[in-house]
Amino acid sequence: MTLDIVSEIRANRLFREACFIDGEWLPVAGDEQISVDNPASGQTIGSVPRLGAEATRRAIESAHRAWPAWRGQTAEARGKVLYRWHELLLEHEQILASIMTLEQGKTHAESAGEIRYAASFFKWFAEEARRAYGRTIPPAGADQHIVVLRQPIGVAAAITPWNFPSSMITRKAGAALAAGCPMVVKPASATPFSALALAVLGEEAGVPAGVFHVVTGSASEIAGEMTGNPLVRKVSFTGSTEVGSRLMRDAATNVQKISLELGGNAPFIVFDDADLDAAVEGAIAAKFRNTGQTCVCVNRFYVQDGVHDAFVARLKERIEAMRLGDGFAPETDIAPLINRAAADKVLSHVDDATRQGATLVSGGRRDERGANYVLPTLLTGIRQSMQVTQEETFGPLVAVSSFRDEAEAIALANNTPFGLAAYFYSENVRRVWRVAEGIEAGMIGINAGLISNPAAPFGGVKASGLGREGASEGLDEYLETKYLLMG
Ligand code: NAP
Repeated sequence: MTLDIVSEIRANRLFREACFIDGEWLPVAGDEQISVDNPASGQTIGSVPRLGAEATRRAIESAHRAWPAWRGQTAEARGKVLYRWHELLLEHEQILASIMTLEQGKTHAESAGEIRYAASFFKWFAEEARRAYGRTIPPAGADQHIVVLRQPIGVAAAITPWNFPSSMITRKAGAALAAGCPMVVKPASATPFSALALAVLGEEAGVPAGVFHVVTGSASEIAGEMTGNPLVRKVSFTGSTEVGSRLMRDAATNVQKISLELGGNAPFIVFDDADLDAAVEGAIAAKFRNTGQTCVCVNRFYVQDGVHDAFVARLKERIEAMRLGDGFAPETDIAPLINRAAADKVLSHVDDATRQGATLVSGGRRDERGANYVLPTLLTGIRQSMQVTQEETFGPLVAVSSFRDEAEAIALANNTPFGLAAYFYSENVRRVWRVAEGIEAGMIGINAGLISNPAAPFGGVKASGLGREGASEGLDEYLETKYLLMG
């Protein structure tokens, strides 16, 4: 990547070093700023304001003022704004993808894919806005009528992670705005520019001032105001389980409705009766997207004895053919990790596993390109006691162990506090039902490695979270139920 690309991106009107509050752009002022680095080079690409509780309060109060007019619009009118926002994202796909690759590191092709995915939530919820149906219920007494209304809950607050800087926002904001709720977003400090670019296009799409805000700055101060302010009626968080459980405690103070999309520890099971070619393709897709930094990335591979060696041999071939490099280089298959700490975590899982007897088949070290570059890695002989089995690696590490029978595979898959995604490959239809019903996870890919889709309810069970995003369930998260009894 050349300096020209950086200057060109910085010069684009979608690149804003400012926050967006109450319909106004507030630029960086003085020393109170956060610098944002390019994970591929370590160079600073810009900075955003480091705001805190006071600015967040202003955004929340502005959102509260904007709420009556926004919820007062017809669902169709709100849907039109969201539909236009979706179109604008697609029209600006290339520059939005460049901003994302610059701050997040993922390959440009993956960034463009994320922009299309992000836009798809606006389209989906533009259509769902009209389906916030209530119902009527046969009354208990004569001359009575029971009507159930679905109404927007109020000001919503969102805190989002760096791994999907656009789509984790649109998945929340699409639902909130469709339901008639204004939203205040705090994006991850590593990737604020994608969020701010969304806000520019939101303004152009006709989102009224006060309905959508982006506040960058101190996570604890911003979140403290979001959970401490009784005007906020809904908090939606995507990120680590540790922060999510803290937010849940804080949201209890004002009894705010909360959705949590947290970490995973996804198993990927390959049975003897699987289509092995399809399983290898699925494994690559489910493991290496975003360099292994997705919450639904596979963390644990369980392969049945009869196909273990063949599966590992094919995977090794695919992994060793992957080209590691800068996300802007068209030949790159796998990009750098977000920062040095993320790379250190992957390597510490490799060290821990090999110390406990795992076999290193490929990779297992940094590349000379820099601290954030880790070679795609394959380990076999993984055991339950190893860190890689216990916690999300969030990196390009394939950790394989073998199993004997179906019951053992299900028990291994469920032996974790997490339950976000799971994958398995089998051609036996009876087994498909048994395993799908037996695995404790919110989402299961059956003979499929990619599962995300705006029409499907995304979310986890156990320590992976609460609530769902996308689908009709996504809209429900921003609606209250009100029952009317007419005498
Ligand atoms: P993180 O550290 O929890 O950060 C996520 C967001 O929380 C960021 O905006 C961060 O702000 C903010 N935050 C940090 N400390 C906070 C605090 N004390 N109070 C309130 N907010 C705080 O997680 P991450 O490392 O960015 O993201 C990776 C994790 O997210 C993984 O576990 C992954 O599985 C999970 N994830 C889950 C899903 C899902 O849908 N289930 C999707 C994507 C990612 P700063 O950036 O300013 O620190």
